Amino acid sequence: MSRVYNFSAGPAVLPEEVLQEAADEMLDYRGCGMSVMEMSHRSKVYDNIIKEAEADLRDLMNIPDNYKVLFLQGGASQQFAAIPMNLMKNKKAAYIVTGQWAKKAFQEAKMYGDAVEVASSADKTFSYIPDCSDLDIPEDADYVYICENNTIYGTKFKELPNTKGHTLVADVSSCFLSEPVDVTKYGVIYGGVQKNVGPAGVVIVIIREDLITDDVLPGTPTMLKYKTQADADSLYNTPPCYGIYICGKVFKWLKKMGGLEVMKQRNEEKAKILYDFLDQSKLFKGTVVPKDRSLMNVPFVTGDADLDAKFIKEATEAGFVNLKGHRTVGGMRASIYNAMPKEGVEKLVEFMKKFEEENA
Ligand SMILES: *Cc1c(COP(=O)(O)O)cnc(C)c1O
Repeated sequence: MSRVYNFSAGPAVLPEEVLQEAADEMLDYRGCGMSVMEMSHRSKVYDNIIKEAEADLRDLMNIPDNYKVLFLQGGASQQFAAIPMNLMKNKKAAYIVTGQWAKKAFQEAKMYGDAVEVASSADKTFSYIPDCSDLDIPEDADYVYICENNTIYGTKFKELPNTKGHTLVADVSSCFLSEPVDVTKYGVIYGGVQKNVGPAGVVIVIIREDLITDDVLPGTPTMLKYKTQADADSLYNTPPCYGIYICGKVFKWLKKMGGLEVMKQRNEEKAKILYDFLDQSKLFKGTVVPKDRSLMNVPFVTGDADLDAKFIKEATEAGFVNLKGHRTVGGMRASIYNAMPKEGVEKLVEFMKKFEEENA
């Protein structure tokens, strides 16, 4: 067996321990004589799996009792519609557009009501986070929407926007569980898990209870109503059982590692290794304004498309895979999620140094 250093933006690297444990339990989950994939989602055994996953997530994120945790399907993209359908009581919402995912959410919301762009960083290819301390937010906006970590462009909100009392909704797909968060600052926090938490197919929605009502837009599908899912404890229909089981294992791994405060320190250390190198390199340079840099997704370029391609090819051969940047930014992007070991980043930087010397 040989595992590569996988810098994919998502689906992405998972802790090896978790994969090993899942492999050990594949044929016979703890004496059940069957795989978790084969068991009823209504069984006692599965009930324990999903309840424990929720309890561990609550523990990790310190989620208050007046928030529900939902394990849903349809990815983060499904939430682009579910959010306006459930929350647009006044049919108005404010969107901060800091990248492709925020833009997609914004465009989707326009189908359901008056979605207003209150800030954007499109003017500089989304390479920074706009000042959100004093935005012109419509009085009657039902919520303010952000994508907290911009997976493609490598920016992160280091400070949440001043919503002027409005409910904050955040897509945290690519920074989920990478550092502690104050859940009480949000109405809804949600994310697809395939970036930093688990296998594709699960989206986790953490939502304040008062936002879960029957008062949704006409035509909202039963499955997309938060109330349906909350009332049924995420078991209205068959949930993504196996994916939730793996997420549960990742939560246990995070707790064992010391929790989110420790993950934050580790992630800062890892990102610093790469950013420090980029800041002094004569060949490579980061594409993001330093103060808005993500700890999770690090885009960089040489400025020469042929040299970028050569780097990606040679890196792949050396076991550093999925470093190709998004087509709208070009160059490279190293996603260094929780499960990427520090050693992976150190070795990547060594490789970059060597490439720089050879191509000076
Ligand atoms: C990947 C990603 C999405 C889309 O996730 P899907 O689960 O594929 O729908 C949305 N938002 C962010 C921030 C992402 O990184």
